[in-house]
Amino acid sequence: MSAPSRHPGARGAAPREGAAPACPSLRFTGPIAGLSPADRSLLFDRSGAEAGSVRARAEEIVERVRAQGDSALRALARELDGVELGSLEVPAAARRSALETLDPSLRRAMEHAAANIERWHRAGLPRTTEIETEPGVVIGRRPDPMGRVGVYAPGGRAAYPSSVLMGAIPARVAGVSEVIVCSPPAPGEATTGTERTGLPSRLVLAAAELARADRVFAIGGAGAVAAMAFGTETVPRVDRIVGPGNAYVAAAKLLVSGRVSIDSPAGPSELLAIADDLADPEAVARELLAQAEHDPQACAIAVGIGDATASAIVAAIQRLLPSQARREIVAESLASRGGVLAAPSLDEALDFARDYAPEHLLLAVSDPDAALPQVRNAGTVFLGGQSSVVFGDYMSGANHTLPTGGSSRAYSGLSTLDFVRWTTYQRIGPEAAARMAPDVAALAEAEGLPAHAAAARAWIGSGDGAGTRRRRVADGAVDPAGRAGTPPDLSRAAYRAITLYAPDRTPCEIDLSDNTNLFGLPPAARRALREAEPQSTTRYPSLYAGALKSALARYVGVDPAEITTGCGSDDVLDSAIRAFTEPGDRIAYPEPTFPMVPIFARMNGLEAVAVPPADGLEIDVDALMAAGARILYLCSPNNPTGIAARPPAIERVLREARGLIVLDEAYVEFAERSFAREAPGHGRLLVTRTLSKAFGLAGLRIGYGIGARDLVADVEKSRGPYKVNALAERAAAAALNEELDWVRERIAEVVANRARFTEALRKLGLAPLPSAANFVLVPVSDSAALASAMRRQGVAVRPFAALPRIGDALRITIGPWPMMEAALSALERGLR
Ligand code: PMP
Repeated sequence: MSAPSRHPGARGAAPREGAAPACPSLRFTGPIAGLSPADRSLLFDRSGAEAGSVRARAEEIVERVRAQGDSALRALARELDGVELGSLEVPAAARRSALETLDPSLRRAMEHAAANIERWHRAGLPRTTEIETEPGVVIGRRPDPMGRVGVYAPGGRAAYPSSVLMGAIPARVAGVSEVIVCSPPAPGEATTGTERTGLPSRLVLAAAELARADRVFAIGGAGAVAAMAFGTETVPRVDRIVGPGNAYVAAAKLLVSGRVSIDSPAGPSELLAIADDLADPEAVARELLAQAEHDPQACAIAVGIGDATASAIVAAIQRLLPSQARREIVAESLASRGGVLAAPSLDEALDFARDYAPEHLLLAVSDPDAALPQVRNAGTVFLGGQSSVVFGDYMSGANHTLPTGGSSRAYSGLSTLDFVRWTTYQRIGPEAAARMAPDVAALAEAEGLPAHAAAARAWIGSGDGAGTRRRRVADGAVDPAGRAGTPPDLSRAAYRAITLYAPDRTPCEIDLSDNTNLFGLPPAARRALREAEPQSTTRYPSLYAGALKSALARYVGVDPAEITTGCGSDDVLDSAIRAFTEPGDRIAYPEPTFPMVPIFARMNGLEAVAVPPADGLEIDVDALMAAGARILYLCSPNNPTGIAARPPAIERVLREARGLIVLDEAYVEFAERSFAREAPGHGRLLVTRTLSKAFGLAGLRIGYGIGARDLVADVEKSRGPYKVNALAERAAAAALNEELDWVRERIAEVVANRARFTEALRKLGLAPLPSAANFVLVPVSDSAALASAMRRQGVAVRPFAALPRIGDALRITIGPWPMMEAALSALERGLR
C-alpha cells in the first residue's frame, strides 16, 4: 500500500490539501506528483519477466513435447489436468453439438459479437500497394495470408470463448488456409458447465465452430504451444500462434518464438481510466472492478482530474467492493496493483497514461475526442464514460487481444495484419535500368563488390532500341491502330495493368451485341437534331445541362437538384468513384457484372472486390457487406445476366451498407422495379441510368444519376463542366418532354419479343437466364466459336467466357422480331 504522505515524490512534492485519503484496498493513491520512485517503477515496469521457475518449467515441457510428441501431450494431460485423453483432437461432431446445444440467448450474443468482429477486421484487411519510386521503377507489396495458424484458448481459471472469436475470425478473414484451436480439457467447474470429459469447455468449442476453425485439439498450457510450434503426430505445425494464456503459455510462446511467429506479449489485463469531474465516479469504479475481477494480477488504475474526483472514485470503489461476486480476486488485484491517483490537469493525466502504456485506456472526460490526438502507447482507447471497456471486451468488434505490461509502446492489438506476410515485387523498365546503372555501380564499387557493379553497368544503354520496343509490345501498350502507346516510363503505374476496353465492334448486318435500341430514334429527337441552330455548334453548351436535368427530373419524379448528368452513365459512374474514394479504397460488386466497373476501379487506384454469386445466381449480400468496401456497386437488371436483383436484397444493402451504394439501372425501363425515387431520401444511394438503351440515344452519350442533393453536387464537382453536348441535350430533352409514349411503346415491344425469343431458345434446347433487360444471356458450350459462326451468317452477338456459376454464354440484344428470327436461325445453324 502506498500513500504519498509516506513516499514523497521524486520531485519532492508534498501531499496536497484534500488529497484522497489512503485507502486500505488500493495499492496506489494520492496525487501523481507524489508517487515515489519505487512506486513509479512498480507502475511503469510491469513487463513482469516471469519467475525463473516458470520459465524453467515451461522449457522442460516444451522440450518434452518436442522430443516425444503426442505421448508427452497425453502424459501432461494426465499430470496437469488429471484426464486420460483418448483422442487429442476434438471430433467435429462434439464441436457441432456444442454449438447446437448452446443456450439460444448465448448463441445469439456470440453471433452478434462474431458479426461485428468480422465486419471490423474485414474493413482493416491489408492491401496491395504499388508505387513508382522514380519513372519506370515500380515497387509493389502484396499481403499473403499465412498457411496455418494456431489460436490458443485458455481454459484454466475461466474459459474465454470470446478470445477464440478474437483470434480465429481475423485469421479467417485474412485468408489463412487452416485455423486450428488448442484449449485444455475443461476442469468441469460451474463456470463452464462441462463434465470431466477430456474435452475443452463447451463454450470454447461452440465459439471455435462459430468462427469456422478447421480443427480443435484438447491440449493446453506450454505443451499446446510446443505442439503447435514443432508439430506432433496429431497436431500440425503452424506458422503463427496467437491468443492469451497463463504465465506458462506466455513463457512457452517466447521460447518457441524463434521458430514460429507469436503475437504481442499478453499478460494480466490492464485498465487506466482518466476521469474528470463530470464523469460518474460509480461508473469509473465499476470499470476498475470489472478489470480487477479477471485475475489477482490484473492492473486497474484510475486517474481523477482533481483530488475531489479521485476521492469520489475511491469512495465508490469502497461502496461497491463488498457486493462483488469475485471480491477476493478483485480485492487482491486492487491491493497489489490497483490505484486511484489524482492529476491536476488532463494534460498531466495523459502524460501519465503515456508513461503507463496501458492495454485499455478509458477517457471518461467531457471531450474525449479532443484528447485522443494526444494519446500515445495505449492498446485501445475508449472515448467517453459510456464507452465501457466491457463492450470492447466482447461486442464492439475491435480486437480484445491487446499488448499489456507496457508493451503497447511498441506493439499493437491483434488484427488481420498478424495473419499475413508481405511479398514485395519490383519491376524495372529498360530506361530506368539504364538511368540507375551508373549510381548502382558507384555504390557497389564503394562496397568492394565489382561483380555487382558489372551487373548494373550491363544495362547502360538499354533504354533505347529494340529492348524498349519489345517491352512495349509485351505490355500491350500499343493502341489498336498499331501506333506505339505512351512510353511506359511516363504512364501512371496503375494504368499499366489496364487494357483498353475494346469489344469487337466490327460492323455486321444485324448487330445484337451492344444492348442498344434497335427500333430507331424518337421522332422528336430526330427533329431537334435536324432543326438545331448554328449556335448549338459554335458556342459552348450549357455548363451543367440544366434543361436536360429538368426534363429528366420530370421523367423520374424527383427534383432537378437531385440529378447529375454525364457523357453516358459510364461517365457518371467514373465521376462518382472519383468523388467518393481515395486510392487504395475498395469497391465491391457481385460478379459477373458490367465489365467497366473493375476498369474504372483500377483507373481510380481502387481495389476491386468481385463477390461471386450465391446459389441460384442470387447476390451474396453477406459477402458483399463483409468486403469492407467504400463503394458497393449493384446492377439491376444486371449486365450480362439480365437478372433483376430481388428487392429484399437491394433493400438490405440500402439498410446496412455504410459507404456509397451505386445502383446501376441502365436497363430498368425493361424491368418492374426501380429504386430511383428512393435515392434522394436515402442519402448514400446513387442510382445511375442512361438514355442509351430504352431511349435509343446511345450515340448522344447521355447518362444521369439520381441521389441526394449533396451527393449529386459532389459528383458534379468531380465530373466538371460541359459534359453533355448541346445537340445531345436538345434532342434528349425533346424526347423526354414530347415523346415518352413512343418510347414506352418500344419498351413494350422489347418485353413482348423477349418472352417470345426466350421461348424459342428453350425449344432449341437452350436455357436462357430469366431476363428483365433488353437482352438475354444464353449459356452455351463454346461461346467464342458460336459467336463467330453467327457473325458469318450476318448476326453479331456478344460472347462471354467462363462466367462464374454460368460458364460460357452468348448475350443477345432484343430487337424487332425479324431480327430475332434471323438470330434464331443463325444460332440454330451455328449449334449444328
Ligand atoms: N451500365 C451498364 C450495366 C451497361 O451495360 C452500360 C453499357 N452497356 C452502361 C452502364 C453504360 O452506358 P452508357 O455509358 O451508354 O450510359
